[in-house]
Amino acid sequence: MKLSHLTEIVKNVAATLTCPKCGKHFVGDAVDVVDITGDRGLFSAHCLHCNSATLVAMNIREYRQKIAKRERQISKVAFNKIAPADVVEMKNFLEGFDGDFRKILEEPDRKKRVE
Ligand SMILES: [Zn+2]
Repeated sequence: MKLSHLTEIVKNVAATLTCPKCGKHFVGDAVDVVDITGDRGLFSAHCLHCNSATLVAMNIREYRQKIAKRERQISKVAFNKIAPADVVEMKNFLEGFDGDFRKILEEPDRKKRVE
């Protein structure tokens, strides 16, 4: 599994989990992977609000499938033939692009179009 996929899974797990003691959500940095075997993940989480620690076993199939589906879409796009219009569109895009990839990736409208 790629490190970026692992990071994404941990982020998803952190967003799902709440502290059993104080009920607050765990922050991404406070969740670590103990073990991942197939669809089963074991995570340790440290609550930054009440300072308690917990071990959580979770089925991560949903997250793995989401990543796999996206990877398939990316490779499908990568192998599509490039038409002259695509080159013109890319040229136009690059002329107005300020180099901030974060802005593009976080733009909700663009994300929807890709999915
Ligand atoms: Zn807590």
